[in-house]
Amino acid sequence: MQRRRFLQGALGGGIASSLIGCAKTSKPVNHALPFSTAELPLQTPSLAPINAYADRIISTNVCTRPFRPQGPRTEVEQSGNKTLIHNYGHGGSGWSLSWGSAALAESLIQADKQTPVAVVGCGAIGLTTAIQCQRAGYNVTIYAKERPPYVRSSYATGIWSPDSRIVTLDHAKAFADRWQWMARLSYLRFQTLLGLAGTPVEWTTMFRMADKPFDDHGGHNIPGEPPYPNYRQALLSDLNPKARDLPADKNPFATSYVRQFPLLMFNISAYSQHLLDVFHRGGGRIVNRTLSGIDDFKQFDETVIVNCTGYGAKALLNDESIIPVRGQTCKLMPQPEVKYGLQYFDQHTSVYPRRDGLLVQAGAEGDFNNPLANIDPQESVNAVAQLAKIMQSMQR
Ligand SMILES: Cc1cc2nc3c(=O)[nH]c(=O)nc-3n(C[C@H](O)[C@H](O)[C@H](O)COP(=O)(O)OP(=O)(O)OC[C@H]3O[C@@H](n4cnc5c(N)ncnc54)[C@H](O)[C@@H]3O)c2cc1C
Repeated sequence: MQRRRFLQGALGGGIASSLIGCAKTSKPVNHALPFSTAELPLQTPSLAPINAYADRIISTNVCTRPFRPQGPRTEVEQSGNKTLIHNYGHGGSGWSLSWGSAALAESLIQADKQTPVAVVGCGAIGLTTAIQCQRAGYNVTIYAKERPPYVRSSYATGIWSPDSRIVTLDHAKAFADRWQWMARLSYLRFQTLLGLAGTPVEWTTMFRMADKPFDDHGGHNIPGEPPYPNYRQALLSDLNPKARDLPADKNPFATSYVRQFPLLMFNISAYSQHLLDVFHRGGGRIVNRTLSGIDDFKQFDETVIVNCTGYGAKALLNDESIIPVRGQTCKLMPQPEVKYGLQYFDQHTSVYPRRDGLLVQAGAEGDFNNPLANIDPQESVNAVAQLAKIMQSMQR
């Protein structure tokens, strides 16, 4: 019943009922559109060179993904006269799954609409949860230690990555239905955020380079980390716009295997500002407050509190299930003429053409269970040097 309300409110009748159907059967429902089966000639966009020089790095950031092997915690805890709804632990998928997770958390509120709601946390999850609660008719206040651009969410890569370090393969079956709801709902919501002033969300073109043939069948295997499910392949293949492997005569890169695909990208500066604006326009207030332990929830005037503290929940609730997964990124000076990104995972390098700077992700072995938030400048310099090599060998 609760799930039905969540899905119908968030998705509208048609899709909601098919998702409810899918939840019952636990099989993915195919919403495939009647795509043309005609193969059109592959078009590659013109590839403006990326100025991959270390002296164009304008910022370097580190943050920790709040990963839980069993998936995010979205559940109710009753504490005295307070109803605590937890919504944290979204690993490397927090931006991508945010709207679905927000809708799920909001559906857990049993109070009438006159009851004021407190949301603790002002990152990707807190902001979307607060807006979702406002849309459901609640009066919402956000309480947080930091707000954008100083939350961990602000340091993310900013791409649609809904199954990135979200659950381990061991727990994948139990979490699959919930993941699918969240991913589908979020995906639909992101399409409504295209074409807005400031371009908070857009589609871009990616090229994935590889030294050996792509393996579409297994889960994601990252050295030093547990195996993860490839949910997107298994459960969302009807949503994924089609990827195409470049034939040799169309391949401008030095690797033998290159895959071209469209990717949803979040321009995090503009997108965070958009969310803040929507929240404020909906009558929301943000209050600076730092909580030091679970007892601090008792101090709130509100009786309904949604806990969206991300990695902060580890210390706040002594939640040892949260495993930090470190990630370092840097931004190269913006180049609006660059309209594509690259992923070369064999060399731990990727770049995304964000409007607020070309986002270069390094990625290193030893990131898993690594809480260190210190910046290693050489890591980013190396990633940019790797990018420079790709540029030097790229045929234009
Ligand atoms: C390098 C990197 C790249 C990533 N790339 C992507 C990507 O491309 N796509 C994607 O979907 N996801 C990505 N992620 C994951 C994503 O960034 C996280 O899942 C997401 O930021 C989690 O959001 P959150 O709102 O839960 O946490 P946070 O952004 O950490 O927000 C937590 C909020 O709670 C507040 N808070 C915490 N503790 C307390 C306390 N004790 N008292 C008061 N307030 C408190 C904080 O101040 C903050 O406001 C990436 C993560 C990393 C590290």
